[in-house]
Amino acid sequence: MGARLTAALLTGRVAAEVSRRLGRGGGTVIAGHLVPRIDPAALTKVTGRLPLGSVIVSGTNGKTTTTRLISHLLGQAGLRALHNRAGANLVTGLVTAIVKQADLRGRPRADVGLFEVDEATVPAALLQIRPRAVLLTNLFRDQLDRYGEVHFVAGLWQQAFKTLPSDAALILNADDPLVADLGRERPQPPLYYGIGDPSVGISEPPHASDARLCGRCGTEYSYQIWFYGHLGHWACPACGLARPRPQVEAIGVTLRGDRGTDVRFRTPGGDFAARLALPGLYNVYNALAATACGLQLGLPLDTLRQGLESFTAAFGRLERITVGDRALFLALVKNPVGFTEVLRTVLAEQTTGPQARPETATPGRTLLIAINDHFADGTDVSWLWDVDFEGLQGRVATVVCAGTRAEDMAVRLKYALVPPQQIVIEPDPSRALDRALAVTPLGETLYVLPTYTAMLEVREVLQRAGHVRGFWQD
Ligand SMILES: [Zn+2]
Repeated sequence: MGARLTAALLTGRVAAEVSRRLGRGGGTVIAGHLVPRIDPAALTKVTGRLPLGSVIVSGTNGKTTTTRLISHLLGQAGLRALHNRAGANLVTGLVTAIVKQADLRGRPRADVGLFEVDEATVPAALLQIRPRAVLLTNLFRDQLDRYGEVHFVAGLWQQAFKTLPSDAALILNADDPLVADLGRERPQPPLYYGIGDPSVGISEPPHASDARLCGRCGTEYSYQIWFYGHLGHWACPACGLARPRPQVEAIGVTLRGDRGTDVRFRTPGGDFAARLALPGLYNVYNALAATACGLQLGLPLDTLRQGLESFTAAFGRLERITVGDRALFLALVKNPVGFTEVLRTVLAEQTTGPQARPETATPGRTLLIAINDHFADGTDVSWLWDVDFEGLQGRVATVVCAGTRAEDMAVRLKYALVPPQQIVIEPDPSRALDRALAVTPLGETLYVLPTYTAMLEVREVLQRAGHVRGFWQD
């Protein structure tokens, strides 16, 4: 019985090693294709031997940061997680993870499995990994040419949950109606999380929110408050279906601009406060999701608090780098809601440090926006029209537009009434970075907002200049 698994894992290891030597970066997808051909049950067998079981994390936004955060919390508790590499979130990526983190007899070198899974891969992952918990962050319209129809994905998940054992826990975002509704018919009540501090919400529908229709009767939901896209306090005016009361809730949130966030958490085990190094409300959701998952795994509150405070962002998604006398703030942008929230973070007033200034005296920000239209970025850039750039008006000094779609970006900014003399078009990432740094005042921050492949290019430029480590060194 074990011989087949051993042969499969051995083949996978050799394939991964060959691929590494060929210098194909971290791309060890080949192993993920070969292993199941030799032992189709390899993933099930190895994950079945994890002493504390597995957790599956999915959703449109935040799954990488949330997964990393959970892994960090587990580390604080002295537990090791077996997890897939960020972005390698199809079944092949999950298989590659077990090849790397199990011995040749299929015994995992970890206590818990922690898998970040692509939205459409959830059904396959649930069949092969029998998870103790499934965490779903949110469902947004992502790159338009990939998953246009969020209801289609929600339907896939709903179907897939029928294969789950009844004792598997669902951890769901109460503030996303489509996600919250997935728990309505489960035999076990889900563990819900959400934001409960109205002071950080807005009472007008945000520019980039999609309308959401009631899962029970089809009426459009009404909102008391919005926090992030369509996430908020929602209810159906016709049938009364409403946001479930979350057991894990952020009851006090203080945004400290790009420096981080103070959050007071309410949990079934008690309240606690944590100072997060992560900026923005979207990271409050990530922290809530990870906290709920940590509680489900039985981690103590004190461990959760320490872990939340000592965590810094996953590489490339949000990062602060020092470049000479200036700071660089890097944040990946990939869809309208995420981009809008990043802009909100960039524009949030810094109220910490001794240099806190009134709004009127704050000089305009310098931005570098790099938009590519390669496959990994999404080839259709019309989503830029759904980003709320209107908020930049009067609050930026210079915006350098880079990437293959620099021109489109500049046009979008002109429609957002950013004065043309403040817009610079420079498609080449290296020259764009030079120009943007040159107009960033000493001691100030340059905000760099690239799509996925543009992020890789910017990183490469920074790496050549010795400012950051290589992409695959994490
Ligand atoms: Zn209804």
